[in-house]
Amino acid sequence: MNLNPKTKLIIESLTLKLNSLANELSAKGKNIINLTAGELDFPTPLYIQKEVKNKVNLNKYTPTVGISTLKHMIAGQIYKDYKWKVTAENVAVTAGGKQALFESMFAILQEGDEVIIPTPGWVTYKYQIILNNAKPILAPLNKKFDLDIKEIQKVISKRTKAIILNSPNNPSGSFYSAASLIALKKIIKNKAIYLIVDDIYSKIIYDKTYRTPALFAPQKKYLILINSFSKSQALAGWRVGYVIANKEIIQAVTSYQSHTTGNVSLLSQIAAQEIIKKGDKTKKFIQILKKRRKIVAKLLQTIPRISYDLPKGAFYYFINVSRIETNTEKFCEHLLEAGLALVPGEAFGSPGFVRLSFSASTSKLIKGIKIFKKICKKY
Ligand code: PMP
Ligand code: GLU
Repeated sequence: MNLNPKTKLIIESLTLKLNSLANELSAKGKNIINLTAGELDFPTPLYIQKEVKNKVNLNKYTPTVGISTLKHMIAGQIYKDYKWKVTAENVAVTAGGKQALFESMFAILQEGDEVIIPTPGWVTYKYQIILNNAKPILAPLNKKFDLDIKEIQKVISKRTKAIILNSPNNPSGSFYSAASLIALKKIIKNKAIYLIVDDIYSKIIYDKTYRTPALFAPQKKYLILINSFSKSQALAGWRVGYVIANKEIIQAVTSYQSHTTGNVSLLSQIAAQEIIKKGDKTKKFIQILKKRRKIVAKLLQTIPRISYDLPKGAFYYFINVSRIETNTEKFCEHLLEAGLALVPGEAFGSPGFVRLSFSASTSKLIKGIKIFKKICKKY
């Protein structure tokens, strides 16, 4: 078939694909412990359910990039969280962080541009850059999954249009240190390089030393801030997120979105308003996640030939299994046959690792890690 050649440059998101595959196998009756999930396993908070149920009679389009009151509320929240003075004109409400990222890249990227992705990095960045005719440039993080400034310096050039910063990071669960962010700030200080700060896990934090990379942007006009309600509010399927950027970028995002998806579901926008109004409930989720994080650490300790760090944020353990198998796609196939779904590090540019999501019940975690241990031992 004579398809667009760009279709050959991209493959389906491995994280989403594996999550669906594991769920499909379970639905068919196979016993699968699915620890691939990039979303919280908690139900929609009750106060959101109630508000949205009361508004189901509403059915009209909203302005393309969001209801005005919601945009004002988000702008207010940004000032609270970042001390960054923005107005509703700097806000676009999008179908999750994914659309916010894509549309921002559409707004800034031209053919020949390069975008630096500290690696391991989330699976989708690379493909979004390619879809926008630019080139992804991978810069390895250091052994602690902190920014490695030397690696970034090696790849920065006149073609560098943007750097993506995701801290806490998916898949590693680590933060970038303030020291590394200060160093980065110095090297890009007078350069026309956008910082795309993907702060989607910024509220899921277990360590008080966290500072968002957004605070280290040398020039606000080159800061593009991405966030969503997917992770921190357990609303991944509701598809609501946003981008904060200068007005020209928001205008381009608006035009793009007006010809593609149009507005985010009205009911999801209502949910977002309610969250900002009532104050989010992430703290409750964090208490549970902290307990699970500890349980997983205890269980993993008993497995020889693997290594990992305690996640400081998000809900992933990124486990080094390279002493057992460096081809982790193959390794994950074995695990799946044995009844455990994990995401191979290849999805994030880091073979030799597997990502285990601890957004699952304690009993699932215990059962899943038992399978993991068995396979690691006999592999
Ligand atoms: N950024 C990162 C790092 C993620 O892990 C995800 C998860 N899908 C997203 C962005 C996008 O999330 P969503 O579109 O659900 O808001
Ligand atoms: N971001 C999540 C993950 O990494 C959800 C899946 C996706 O959108 O890729 O698993």
